[in-house]
Amino acid sequence: MSRFDLDREELAGLLDKEPAYRVDQLAHALYRELKEPGEVTTLPASLRQRLAGAKELELALRLVATSEADDAKTVKWLFEAGDGARVETVLMAYPRRATVCVSSQAGCAMGCTFCATGQLGFARHLSRGEIVEQVARAVAEAAARGFPRLSNVVFMGMGEPLANYGPVLGAVRRLNGDLGIGARAMTISTVGIVPGIRRLAGEGMQVNLAVSLHAGNDALRDRLVPINRRYRLAELVAACREYRQATGRRISFEWALISEVNDRPSDADELAELAAEVGAHVNLIPLNPTPGYGVPGSPPEAVSRFVRHLEAAGTNVTVRDTRGRESAAACGQLAAGLVPGRLRRGLAVASA
Ligand code: SAH
Ligand code: SF4
Repeated sequence: MSRFDLDREELAGLLDKEPAYRVDQLAHALYRELKEPGEVTTLPASLRQRLAGAKELELALRLVATSEADDAKTVKWLFEAGDGARVETVLMAYPRRATVCVSSQAGCAMGCTFCATGQLGFARHLSRGEIVEQVARAVAEAAARGFPRLSNVVFMGMGEPLANYGPVLGAVRRLNGDLGIGARAMTISTVGIVPGIRRLAGEGMQVNLAVSLHAGNDALRDRLVPINRRYRLAELVAACREYRQATGRRISFEWALISEVNDRPSDADELAELAAEVGAHVNLIPLNPTPGYGVPGSPPEAVSRFVRHLEAAGTNVTVRDTRGRESAAACGQLAAGLVPGRLRRGLAVASA
């Protein structure tokens, strides 16, 4: 239990019989300003001293390393929790907003062959507080660096958000309620956990959904995204349609372009058809190289050809910028600076 795992009542409980405005003062200082309890000078000194050593008010994540790319417009952090679990968070500044990419698990059990996190295996789920803390720290850092206001959160860091449903949804609600980030400014990216998509559709929240498709037929998708053997494409597409109907939010399909694997005309045809069925927007990203996967990303000519093919079929498509590629901050490259099998300091990872 750490600072961001507490809810308002629990925080009030720590203050005992203080009036509500004291709870507000403490919450503001701890959650917005990331102050240490002993530094909350809006509180009376006696109260401050009492709270100073409180274990439950400590931050959960210790900053281990920072790296920057894109002229310091992309900042990547490596954090370590008390048990040695490591995760990464990426802050990206754009002209009018800043976005943070958060991790939902240390490692990932889904085993997508081309993904650095997948190659590491699974260590553990993150708690709601550990997820919210990544955002709160990015909010503070964006302000300190003079970036535009952090308004968007994407669950595209390490881990599969819908395999850690409760904490992830709890974090979404918390970010919405306490940090004032709109559900529409949050995007959950999933490899295609069908029951999770259905459940999320029923929450009455307008969170954006990104589905990592990467292949438009089951045979190829089984190879790239092993969970496809459990949740077939037809079922996934049906769940996407339900999500769109229930929430009114447009879905995006993510597609990492892999040279001569999923960048052929037949792949574009299959993708265009699925996108039309769901009314989805397509985000293409040339595959980032990872240690455990030998095939390169599609070269620029192949990317352009793929885009033209999709556009001719009437698909709404963008090529995602490969933010932070030079510092390995881009999607799919988050591996906590660790070698496969070592997701925690000094500990081998349980096999996925
Ligand atoms: N587990 C979730 C979210 C984290 S991965 C998911 O898979 O959607 C975030 C995105 O990065 C996903 O679309 C994923 O497929 C993509 N990705 C993974 N490895 C990549 C790589 N090497 N190059 C480009 N994109 C990659
Ligand atoms: Fe996990 Fe997403 Fe990587 Fe697949 S792509 S291994 S689901 S983090």
